[in-house]
Amino acid sequence: MKARKVPQRKCIVCQKTLSKREMLRIVRTPEGEVELDLSGKKNGRGAYICGDAEAFKKARKTKAFDRALKVNLTPEQYERLEQDFSSVQDKFKSVSCGKPDEQSE
Ligand SMILES: [Zn+2]
Repeated sequence: MKARKVPQRKCIVCQKTLSKREMLRIVRTPEGEVELDLSGKKNGRGAYICGDAEAFKKARKTKAFDRALKVNLTPEQYERLEQDFSSVQDKFKSVSCGKPDEQSE
């Protein structure tokens, strides 16, 4: 049996590494837009985050996207990302952002 390596990505909120399919990619496009990249193939600077609604809230609070993408997101951009994020939540039910020993917060 061949061991196939699953690409790992690091969450910008909790710094945990997960396989790509457990994470969402946020991309800053060459046009300067910031959007959710469901295909994982869009051009631009990307950042990964656990596919957890809580992760998004934390990222918003701590401006993790701003830092990771080197851009200042407007409240409108955050609103739109949050809507996109929540629309795909069903796919990420088993994912929770944060280290296991921090879950009791
Ligand atoms: Zn995370």
